[in-house]
Amino acid sequence: MKNIELGSIRPPSESESLLVRVTRGCHWNKCYFCGLYKSMNFSMHPIEDTIQDIKEQAALYQGRKFKSCFLQDGDALVLKTDYLLRILEALNKYFPDLEYITSYARADSITRKSPAELQELRQAGLNHLYCGMETGSDKILQLINKGFHADTVVKSGCMAKDAGMILSEFILIGIGGKEHSEENAIQTADALNMIQPDFIRVHATGIKPESKMWEFVQEGSFTLQSEEEIMIEQKLFLEKLLEMDSYYVNEHIINLLLEVRGNLRTDKLEMLSAINKFLGLSEDEKLLFIVGRRLNIFFMLDDLKKPKQYQKAQECMEKILQKNPQVDFTRLCNYVRQSQI
Ligand code: SF4
Repeated sequence: MKNIELGSIRPPSESESLLVRVTRGCHWNKCYFCGLYKSMNFSMHPIEDTIQDIKEQAALYQGRKFKSCFLQDGDALVLKTDYLLRILEALNKYFPDLEYITSYARADSITRKSPAELQELRQAGLNHLYCGMETGSDKILQLINKGFHADTVVKSGCMAKDAGMILSEFILIGIGGKEHSEENAIQTADALNMIQPDFIRVHATGIKPESKMWEFVQEGSFTLQSEEEIMIEQKLFLEKLLEMDSYYVNEHIINLLLEVRGNLRTDKLEMLSAINKFLGLSEDEKLLFIVGRRLNIFFMLDDLKKPKQYQKAQECMEKILQKNPQVDFTRLCNYVRQSQI
């Protein structure tokens, strides 16, 4: 039995899934904020090896029923349709209980396929795509070097939905910096209102010090936003989203308010009220929650009411201020966030 080759990255919602590596790294690998696959040259995982891995995982997990399988790494849709169909055929043969086969997909890889190809892939089992659109603003897509425009984001999302696939769109709150905060909120909401994806997966931005984006911070063309400013941007974004059947979710540890999640048709007001509750805290309590949240002392806003956690957060805050009375909380929080991705 050879070693099964796996990548290290999957969406948070695929933690229980079977993982099958079909490519290594990301063929684009040029987004200025992303360090996920920087150390890796892109290559396809040879199909015979991928199929052998599937067979070996079937032997390894004998009797275990997986509901979902995630195809790694950064964009399985870049593969030719015939190649993907062979992989899907092997998955269905060796894991007949799978209900979902999922993968990351760049918008331009989706639009390079025909509607008929997407239908064929969905019928063969590839039924959930995770797309990192990040933003609906052309200006910001260019700033981050995403490599496609907002019209491709909208077209690709609509194509995936028309093919009957489940669609998750990842978006980055704060990726335009202070300079483009309002544009990011409004234009991203506009694009999503056209696509109406099944899931809107919200991530707060954390700029990595080794990234090209950090150079923009250093030279002053990109201004980091405080946690409160990022939350104000999220509030505007959420307000602009239509009441539609999309599930909106802050699911990643990088997000400040994990409780902001729900169906946009039925839970939008409740989600906005959670954001307003945070924004309505006194300045001291807001900062205490932010610091406690970034130190993983608090997880939900209501944790502020728990005396032990409250006291622990206060002690940590005092230590931070003793060590550096002039601490820049915007930079400190960005540092923590970027370390979580
Ligand atoms: S964000 Fe996605 S497309 Fe961009 S470099 Fe990273 S993995 Fe590749």
